[in-house]
Amino acid sequence: MIQLYIPLNFLGVLYREIKQSLTDIEKMFRLLDREREVADAPGAQPLQVSGGAVRFEDVHFAYEPARPILHGVSFEIPAGKKVAVVGPSGSGKSTLARLLYRFYDVQQGAIRIDGQEIRQVTQSSLRRSIGIVPQDTVLFNDTVAYNIGYGRTGASQVEIEAAARAAHIHDFIAATPAGYETRVGERGLKLSGGEKQRVAIARTLLKNPPILIFDEATSALDSNNERAIQAELEAVGQDKTVLVIAHRLSTVTDAHEILVMDAGRIVERGRHDELLAQGGRYAEMWRLQSQ
Ligand code: ADP
Ligand code: MG
Repeated sequence: MIQLYIPLNFLGVLYREIKQSLTDIEKMFRLLDREREVADAPGAQPLQVSGGAVRFEDVHFAYEPARPILHGVSFEIPAGKKVAVVGPSGSGKSTLARLLYRFYDVQQGAIRIDGQEIRQVTQSSLRRSIGIVPQDTVLFNDTVAYNIGYGRTGASQVEIEAAARAAHIHDFIAATPAGYETRVGERGLKLSGGEKQRVAIARTLLKNPPILIFDEATSALDSNNERAIQAELEAVGQDKTVLVIAHRLSTVTDAHEILVMDAGRIVERGRHDELLAQGGRYAEMWRLQSQ
């Protein structure tokens, strides 16, 4: 019995190890696939960011040829300003973020940063200039320090801690048994949605890029947590060019422009007060959320 038990147990462990490695391999291939979608143009030059103005010019996009997702989207985020995108689920909001980070190339139209088309610059320079706090942060199976420090290669422990303090996650980390050396992710400490988002904020603070994309979480956070994170995002976004995908309209009333998306088109646009006065989709969303 004992003899049988040991190999089986061993096999169980082995099986778990293999399964987890496979998950990681799958993830890696998915990442590689994504990388293959875009490539540096021959002779691509590094992006030169002056102010960080972002322009979408008549952008058309489909993940699969048979199903167009964006049907000609145009807008501009002047350097240092914030533009908000709102609209129902599936309307193409996160797709805008993915295209700006160039996970995919547009099929028609162009995206420019300070006048340079993003397809013509090196991917590494583009991604150095943009920080993303995504809807669902995926952490690496590594230490907290690694996950934050990933924002900037060569960051010191002091800098990592400063970023964590600013993102209000330091106390939480300090209270874990191994502190910044605690492993997180699938094989380590499981973090809540809010905690993961704070790690992503700390990473972005450390990276300190001129352009920021926030894809706000919907249900993962309770409203206290969401307000706290919102305040942190505000602080991070000062003087930067910000594209924010917003679920709580109260967080974007100060935006330079609010874009209301529906089925891959901008169906309304303007400042908060203007949109309320129009009495259209945005005004209706605002009325529903104010109740
Ligand atoms: P939102 O962020 O507004 O909820 P998304 O931009 O994520 O919407 O998605 C827009 C549309 O594109 C949806 O219909 C979604 O199903 C589709 N979509 C998103 N990602 C993919 C993908 N990787 N492959 C195919 N379709 C996708
Ligand atoms: Mg989305």
